[in-house]
Amino acid sequence: MTEKMLKFVKVGQQNPNKRDVKRRIDDFNEIYDEFINEKAKEQSSRCSQCGVPFCQVHCPLHNNIPDWLKLTAENRIKEASELAHSTNNMPEVCGRICPQDRLCEGNCVIEQSGHGTVTIGSVEKYITDIAWEKGWIKPIKISNEINQSIGIIGAGPAGLACAEELRKTGYKITIYDRYDRPGGLLIYGIPNFKLEKFVVERRTNFLKQSGIKFIQNIEIGRDISLSDLKDKHDAILIATGVYKAKEIDLPGNNLNNIFPAMEFLTASNKKGLGDKVEKFDKGILNAENKNVVVIGGGDTAMDCVRTAVRQNAKSVKCLYRRDRQNMPGSNREVYNAEEEGVEFIWQSNPKKFIGVKKISSMLVEKMRLGEPDSSGRKKPEPIKGADFEIKTDIAIKALGFDPENLPNLFKCPDLQVSKLGTIKINLSTMETNLQGIFAAGDIVRGASLVVWAIRDGREAATSIDKYLKNRQLKKIKAA
Ligand SMILES: Cc1cc2nc3c(=O)[nH]c(=O)nc-3n(C[C@H](O)[C@H](O)[C@H](O)COP(=O)(O)OP(=O)(O)OC[C@H]3O[C@@H](n4cnc5c(N)ncnc54)[C@H](O)[C@@H]3O)c2cc1C
Ligand code: SF4
Repeated sequence: MTEKMLKFVKVGQQNPNKRDVKRRIDDFNEIYDEFINEKAKEQSSRCSQCGVPFCQVHCPLHNNIPDWLKLTAENRIKEASELAHSTNNMPEVCGRICPQDRLCEGNCVIEQSGHGTVTIGSVEKYITDIAWEKGWIKPIKISNEINQSIGIIGAGPAGLACAEELRKTGYKITIYDRYDRPGGLLIYGIPNFKLEKFVVERRTNFLKQSGIKFIQNIEIGRDISLSDLKDKHDAILIATGVYKAKEIDLPGNNLNNIFPAMEFLTASNKKGLGDKVEKFDKGILNAENKNVVVIGGGDTAMDCVRTAVRQNAKSVKCLYRRDRQNMPGSNREVYNAEEEGVEFIWQSNPKKFIGVKKISSMLVEKMRLGEPDSSGRKKPEPIKGADFEIKTDIAIKALGFDPENLPNLFKCPDLQVSKLGTIKINLSTMETNLQGIFAAGDIVRGASLVVWAIRDGREAATSIDKYLKNRQLKKIKAA
């Protein structure tokens, strides 16, 4: 404990009067900052600089982790943050929400040798938060703006990363998005307790100050066709994510108070942002005092159960048809949810929604794991005569997402998509089958991770730049 900390504790024991409170809050903040700084340095100095940076290899952005840990250990935070930004457009976001146990931290050699990983994500968050606080992150200044423009559809991480990289090169950028705020799933999908909204707003404001134009509340396909948009720009990036909720068609599906996950999470996020949300204010989408049952075993389901807990639900249950070992969601998230009081009912499947007008209970069948299916995973099958009923005031379906039908939506039947509906691209150029139209993020990969969306956005930016430069060159040669 530092001298300052010891003094703080001593004064606290003397029961300070009210006049001291403000000073003590300031002291506390200072001590807290010092503590976090010490922690970040302590963690960073645990990196053995092993020379086989598996952490870096397993980070989709190949962040130069060992070097920024070394800089942090030496208290060279500004340089550490600059290095982190050289490969990542949002290190503070990734530091908060990457599933590090499956990526960088899971592959740290110290973790592999049983001594507990260096907490890479927390250090990444720390150095970037400090950089913001100190004003080291400055809007991009363009000395020679290139007279070519790129239209980006979708203000999620893929679109934002691509926009930033192309702006740095000097292009004019316009981002179009159907939501009222930029950020994609960072703003309306991922809950505030995992990713505070001011963190997202700080990033998008920085991009606005860098000269990137945002047009919100515009849906490509409904308000303007893809080909009309193409006529306005020299190149286009499609980064629209995947939003069609996977469905289960059960008896009672049309009862009230059965919601898709995104409706529940968006309402909660909008409330957190201070918006008026009628369905929430009327108590319909508010879990307070309700028995909530979430169906699904992925990270979206974990976000729903943990949001319901924070809304003071009476009980929160999660139904998943396989067992814990076979759950798609991250182990860490399941652990967090359990800690917060969520009850997991493993190997269970909803069979029927019951109620008059609105749901009041759910009939659930007990499952067991049978023979492996074509994917090699053991297939869940119902156990006869083991059905049971659970009280349900709100049911939330969190079964994953599919792409929307983009060729239809965009009024562009020529746009090639895969059997699953994701956009087909040339993997080395990120270009679709339509010249000058590129695609990145979840709409290409299917539902994935923020860090992969950022990587795709950056790669698309490189390809778009190459494409536009080649086109210019051809024009000059032809003239
Ligand atoms: C609930 C939830 C929790 C998650 N938690 C995590 C997590 O903890 N960690 C993690 O790494 N990943 C997480 N993910 C996944 C991650 O959010 C996505 O992989 C990532 O956001 C994909 O980025 P994107 O840019 O491709 O698409 P998105 O973030 O989905 O952005 C797409 C944007 O395109 C806009 N758009 C779509 N269609 C149109 C149109 N026709 N016209 C105009 N605009 C349009 C949308 O409004 C949206 O703003 C989570 C996902 C969900 C649903
Ligand atoms: S971006 Fe994600 S995977 Fe890469 S270092 Fe940061 S937390 Fe780890």
